[in-house]
Amino acid sequence: MTEPVRHNVAMDISRYRVPASKSVDLHAWDPHEDGGLSRDEAENETRALNKELESLQELLYAEGRHKVLIVIQATDTGGKDGTIRHVFDGVNPSGVTVAPFKKPTPQELSHDYLWRIHQHTPGAGELTIFNRSHYEDVLVVRVHDLVPEERWRRRYEHIRNFEQMLADEGTTIVKLFLHISKEEQRERLQERVDRPEKNWKFSFGDIAEREHWDTYQDAFRVMLEKTSTDAAPWYVIPANRKWFRNRVISEIIVTTLRSLDMRHPAPADGVPGTVVA
Ligand code: AMP
Ligand code: MG
Repeated sequence: MTEPVRHNVAMDISRYRVPASKSVDLHAWDPHEDGGLSRDEAENETRALNKELESLQELLYAEGRHKVLIVIQATDTGGKDGTIRHVFDGVNPSGVTVAPFKKPTPQELSHDYLWRIHQHTPGAGELTIFNRSHYEDVLVVRVHDLVPEERWRRRYEHIRNFEQMLADEGTTIVKLFLHISKEEQRERLQERVDRPEKNWKFSFGDIAEREHWDTYQDAFRVMLEKTSTDAAPWYVIPANRKWFRNRVISEIIVTTLRSLDMRHPAPADGVPGTVVA
């Protein structure tokens, strides 16, 4: 097989990357941004990137050398599920694992907060997507004081060290924060009420969480500030427009996989030229 075909319309993703050890102001990113693209243009470009992603993922699996971890965090209705569905559309499900992290079970709670996380990190040749993650332990936990402050305060450092260890042991990490506006969240929650087929997604708990919008935004800001590192950078994704969100994320993931400079493994002795009778 030839190397994956490169998609030719490049996008500057560095503007979405959160620099390490700098203060963060979330207002620096407009959740409504469209990059000057029409919806059609963005969707066509995402489709082309998706084809390349399919080949890159196959190569990742064939080569069996790199481990890739994609962490997705967002406020409720931020679009985590939709992102996974669209960006990985058509990618071979055998090599891709989605690990969702819900409210911890009593057994999970009886361990340290990274215990349930570590067992889902990718092995060689695997790509794993975290739908929520250990970051909940400095988000919902911080907003609602689920553990005393002196405990959650220390977690930023634990998390930096944990991710550095994963990177040192060969894991490539990309973290995506889906950035939507408060008005966009209102519309998405209202849609879950108004459209019967979306009712299952609606929870009064989301309305209660919405009252803590500002506290959550601040917790996201601190998370970005304290845990965006060279080994495991955060990207802030403008996510009000789903098609632009998908376009940016596709570019980030494809760029990351390209940078691994993967090769198909050499064939075993005698394979080239073998005639199958
Ligand atoms: P959903 O993603 O809509 O299925 O909701 C999952 C829920 O689990 C959210 O309300 C999260 O805040 C919650 N959750 C995930 N991880 C944790 C955690 N470590 N501690 C407390 N709640 C959590
Ligand atoms: Mg929910």
